[in-house]
Amino acid sequence: MSKQRLWLAALLLCMATPMWAIEQRILIIHSYHQQFVWTAEINRALMDRLLPLVPRENIHIEYLDDRRFIDDAKLRQHMTAVLTHKYQHHPPELIITTDDSALSLVLNELSSWASQVPLVFGGVNIPEQHDFSQHPLHTGVYEGMAVEQNLGLIKQLLPQTRSVFMIADQQSLLGRRMAERARQLTENYPELELTLLTQFQLRELRQQLQQLPDHSAVLLLAIHKDTNGDYFSYLHHLPSLTAASNSPIFAMWGNLMMGTGVVGGAMNDGYRHGQNMANRIIRVLHGEPINSLSIMPQADYRPTFDYRQLRHFNIPLQQLPDDAQLLFQPVPFLQQHQKVLLLMVGIVIILFIIISVLSINIRRRAIAEQRWQHLRSELEQKVDERTSELAERNRQLSQLSENLKSQVNTDPLTGIANRRLGMKRLNRLCEQRHPTSTPLTIAILDIDFFKKINDEFGHAAGDLVLVEVASLLSLHLRPTDTIARWGGEEFLLILPDTGLNDSRNICDRLRTLVKQIQVQDHRHVTISIGVACHQSGESDGGLLERADRCLYQAKRLGRDLVITEQQLTSNTTE
Ligand code: GH3
Ligand code: MG
Ligand code: MG
Repeated sequence: MSKQRLWLAALLLCMATPMWAIEQRILIIHSYHQQFVWTAEINRALMDRLLPLVPRENIHIEYLDDRRFIDDAKLRQHMTAVLTHKYQHHPPELIITTDDSALSLVLNELSSWASQVPLVFGGVNIPEQHDFSQHPLHTGVYEGMAVEQNLGLIKQLLPQTRSVFMIADQQSLLGRRMAERARQLTENYPELELTLLTQFQLRELRQQLQQLPDHSAVLLLAIHKDTNGDYFSYLHHLPSLTAASNSPIFAMWGNLMMGTGVVGGAMNDGYRHGQNMANRIIRVLHGEPINSLSIMPQADYRPTFDYRQLRHFNIPLQQLPDDAQLLFQPVPFLQQHQKVLLLMVGIVIILFIIISVLSINIRRRAIAEQRWQHLRSELEQKVDERTSELAERNRQLSQLSENLKSQVNTDPLTGIANRRLGMKRLNRLCEQRHPTSTPLTIAILDIDFFKKINDEFGHAAGDLVLVEVASLLSLHLRPTDTIARWGGEEFLLILPDTGLNDSRNICDRLRTLVKQIQVQDHRHVTISIGVACHQSGESDGGLLERADRCLYQAKRLGRDLVITEQQLTSNTTE
């Protein structure tokens, strides 16, 4: 089987194993009360390690409350009775005790049912007080005292210190033992004046601490009660002592005392102490013979300091031992708000990216719009140009069309209407006329002996005569009249709203006027005119024929004459 498969099998086995592998019942007896920080911290460490292995229901926790009811024989008697009542018939598989009082109870008062139960103890300051001879199955952690270590620390950190005041009560065995240890050490520190305060009332103690001489330090050994029997709470009373003291106060119990105003010291920590106990407990639960586990002779006292108090008493940080632990050190702003700052930086970066993308888009859009505007104006310009080109073309085409139209209807030599247009107008006028309409007359005009002009002076001279005659006719007739070149040297005049007599007069006047036109040899140009009036219902053909006959008559009578159809009729009659 490959290594990976082995690992997988082991993992599956672990998952299949019930979470609580150990079904043993465990009795924990704490010397003090549940709310005492030291006890609470040890218990927390024990629970952190035990609960993953042992069902919660299998753990029994008892509190002797020996701090608040110190040396209370009656309570101890009651507690013995209670615990015996609870456990003698069904003893636990493991007993754990914290601090001296609980251990002492198990070894002495509870031995009748507890002496054969494996025992793990902790927090024991006075080992010699306990007799394990009747309790062979045991191991644990002695706590001891760190009086000497703390005096050493004071010397190291405050070399100018002359006197150290050590405080221990006389009401508790621990207080007495610590005081005793302190007395034993006096000889070791000849340069220090060691004063032991064992008889005090809390209020007086505060005043005493206020009046300590310069270059003094205080080492707190143990206080349970003062001489009045008033309970001393590290949590509530120690801050007032540290606040009153003008000298730094050193102490030995970490999370019980740190933060109350003490400078620090070689400190035992409740949680760490509980962990050291738990290391042994776990091994016992896993089946290791309890006697094979060595007893830890002294707690793990570590130099621990309150940064704020070090600053307050001007104790340089460089003086601290290398393994010193510093608490309450102000966290640099950046470190303190690292997450928020990172979040803000992230947000700023994201915003920057969004804004950049948006502004790039806006810029691109502006460029595209500019380009579009440019293209649009170019296109508009092109459309305008094309439109005006087309308009010009249209104009030219209209012009051309007009020219063509006028060419179709105009005589190219004289510029007057040609036979086609003359015919068209005459035809329309004849068709539109009815019996009540005003009279309509026409005249056919022919230049006399025109062939001779051509023959004698050339075709161009003849043309000139034609142009001059046409121009003269146009000049002297009404705009409503029509003058058309009828062919060769003949012209058709259409005179609406004009009777035969008036027409004859007009034609006679024209005949006279034409005479003013002279050919090169000063010969006067003469014309003959035949005039006819339209008869109701008559076609243009009949009218033209009659006018033509009148013209023929004028020629026959010698030319330079105007002959109307009236004259023609009368001549015929004659
Ligand atoms: P009458 O008095 O009998 O009308 O004699 P006429 O010479 O005027 O008439 P005829 O019919 O014998 O001659 C007409 C001449 O007009 C013949 C022709 O060459 C000439 N003619 C016709 N059209 C034009 C033209 O446009 N220009 C020129 N110069 N001569 C033209
Ligand atoms: Mg003619
Ligand atoms: Mg003629």
